[in-house]
Amino acid sequence: MQDCVFCRIVAGQIPAKKVFEDGAVLAFEDVNPTAPVHVLVVPKRHIETLNDASPSDTALLGQLLLAATAVAREKNLTEAGYRAVINTMAGAGQVVMHVHLHVIGGRDLAWPPG
Ligand code: 5GP
Ligand code: ZN
Repeated sequence: MQDCVFCRIVAGQIPAKKVFEDGAVLAFEDVNPTAPVHVLVVPKRHIETLNDASPSDTALLGQLLLAATAVAREKNLTEAGYRAVINTMAGAGQVVMHVHLHVIGGRDLAWPPG
């Protein structure tokens, strides 16, 4: 998707600070962090929202979660705790229409989120 900002980051057309990468997913620092640690994990393949995932994406969705744990280890958050969030559709705050998992930590996180 040429007009998708995360596809362009995956393609190396927009710079990003990479935290983790494998064949299927890329993790990079959020450009506008909401916490001391704020990393986005995206599938390299364009999927618009979680609603568009299908059973054939089962492994990919698992890889997203495992990449989140790799990010948490890299950022030393496994003991202190962190949040892994996928906003889905505008009503939940999804702005970039390419599935992404936020890994947020490094400060106390309120629950429930707003
Ligand atoms: P959403 O609100 O869609 O769940 O989250 C989108 C996130 O993408 C936001 O936290 C925003 O700061 C981040 N973001 C948007 N554009 C860019 C960009 O070009 N580079 C990076 N690194 N993050 C971005
Ligand atoms: Zn995309």
